[in-house]
Amino acid sequence: MTPSGAELAGYQGQPGSFGARAAARCGKPVAFPTFERTLRALLASEIGCAVLPAVNRVDGPILESLDVLARSLAEPESAIAVEAEIEVPVRLVLAAPEGLALEGVREIHSQAAVLRQCRQLLARLDAIPIDTHDTAYAAFRVKETGGPRAAVCSEEAALEAGLIILEEDVSDVRPNTTRFWRLARARETADPVPRSDVAAEGPAPRIVFYTGVKASSALAEAGAELLSLPGTPGDPIRGFAVVPEKSVARAAALTGRPAGGERVIWLGPAPEFVRPPRMRDIPKTTEVREPSVVAVGPFVVGGGRRAVIAGPCAVESPEQVARLARAVARAGATALRGGVFKPRTSPYSFQGHGLEALGWLKDAGDAAGLPIVTEVMAPAQVGPVAERADVLQIGARNCQNYDLLREAGRSSRPVFLKRGFGTTVEEWLSSAEYLLDAGSRNVILCERGIRTFEKATRGTLDLGGLLVARSLTHLPLFADPSHAAGRRDLVPGLARAAWGAGVDGLMIEVHDAPESALSDGPQALLPEDLEELLDEFGLLPGTSGSVERIRRAIDVVDGGIARLAAQRLELARRVGAVKRASSRPIRDEAREATVRARFAEALGGDTPAATRLADTLIDLALEAEKPDDA
Ligand code: PEP
Ligand code: MN
Repeated sequence: MTPSGAELAGYQGQPGSFGARAAARCGKPVAFPTFERTLRALLASEIGCAVLPAVNRVDGPILESLDVLARSLAEPESAIAVEAEIEVPVRLVLAAPEGLALEGVREIHSQAAVLRQCRQLLARLDAIPIDTHDTAYAAFRVKETGGPRAAVCSEEAALEAGLIILEEDVSDVRPNTTRFWRLARARETADPVPRSDVAAEGPAPRIVFYTGVKASSALAEAGAELLSLPGTPGDPIRGFAVVPEKSVARAAALTGRPAGGERVIWLGPAPEFVRPPRMRDIPKTTEVREPSVVAVGPFVVGGGRRAVIAGPCAVESPEQVARLARAVARAGATALRGGVFKPRTSPYSFQGHGLEALGWLKDAGDAAGLPIVTEVMAPAQVGPVAERADVLQIGARNCQNYDLLREAGRSSRPVFLKRGFGTTVEEWLSSAEYLLDAGSRNVILCERGIRTFEKATRGTLDLGGLLVARSLTHLPLFADPSHAAGRRDLVPGLARAAWGAGVDGLMIEVHDAPESALSDGPQALLPEDLEELLDEFGLLPGTSGSVERIRRAIDVVDGGIARLAAQRLELARRVGAVKRASSRPIRDEAREATVRARFAEALGGDTPAATRLADTLIDLALEAEKPDDA
């Protein structure tokens, strides 16, 4: 099927260029020879959106493209909006046809903006910069013409054109990136709901086009990033300002009264849509904002922080829960779960020990240093349970119990909301909306398996639904592999799958005598199974355990380091062979500095540990890069 215009994303350049890469993130890429032609195609609805390079990390504003956009906006009926900002990593290589060595390079071909990003290379090689249409074109051009010519382009473009890479990562500043703007026709963005066929890339940047001195100083005062353009004698200053979210209202007020002859045009969401809802009826759950972080003592989740809640399905006795609290803390869990009110399919099954058991759970959590999570089933339970529980759980069966949601949302405790086994992602998020609307600010969502035709497992862990939820909500997202599996042997695999899908945390049931558990014994992991799993995820064991327990975690880390070290040495051998084949020097001091910087970043500053580790690896790699017979 050929895509209709709406699915096409235009860019200036040709396949293999960075513009093509940005466009591929917005739709089906279509190349245009010039920025003007790309914008014309957009305005004529030949394409659904266009990408335009706006700012490069090294070179700053990209005048060639911004000027075209500014001129288009200066037309009386300007109808372009900025929908999103897309940051594309720019790894530039110097490449040439086979046979040309670095010392022989006399001309370097690339796009003007790209040549400005590698001034150090140009100075070092003393070569003449030659401005070309785009980076991929430069690669094909030097391949065709031969001679002492090299191109600066992406690695893919170099390989595509059949060039040999003479030097990698030649930008003056690494890592280098270019921010592209995704442009659409203005009237289409009046609706704040993003087009579903386009991958959401985060909030659209607030961008203002301005002319005149007053407007630019007002924007600078509001803290905007100014991308100035040379302007014209009539408009001595003009440009774009990227306004940070927190200054939108201020910038709008300051630029609301431009002086005579000045112009200010908001591109993209107008200031009144400061936080556009991503789903119309659930604005609080789906609002565009930084990921929410829920923190209760040692339990911190969201925005990159990940944790595990573990414990028995039901609190059975003071001794049972105290033992399991110690066990899960030792394993590395940072919150303790346990049901005191149990929703059971049969009214004759064990229903939980009620509020008395909440005291046992609380004591066990306190002794192990863990906050506690427990389920509430009725609005009347919320008050008494919230007195002692750190987190209120709303179970799958009550996901759409709106009275319960409202009551739990009014309590000051964070709420852990499981997805119902028959609710859609949108219904589940709508339930979270009840909590937020009632005043709760700390909500965690948990996928625990939905009901499908499949009977082999208790539920079907809906990872696709989890990922859809991830794209819609700022709330932390958990998975519960225990209730999804219903069988102990499947729990680690599902836990790994969810962890790999990027959940903010897991809820896992654990029991040390599962055969005599009062509920859900068949799906409970043994404490030692939990330890093994959490070591694999890199969660740190609690300090209340034994030396042996912590040593087991260290052994897992050492195993990983040893495997990666072997892999690194093998890669060094291979890169050594490629360098020799293309007559590149083995040593590359800039690259060594990058390796050191990476270790310094991970280990916190320029510590002796970071330097020693990086130096050791670099020495070993240099050794490995030598030919076998050396
Ligand atoms: C539970 O967590 O013990 C529980 C009853 O889970 P769910 O509501 O997901 O069935
Ligand atoms: Mn259970």
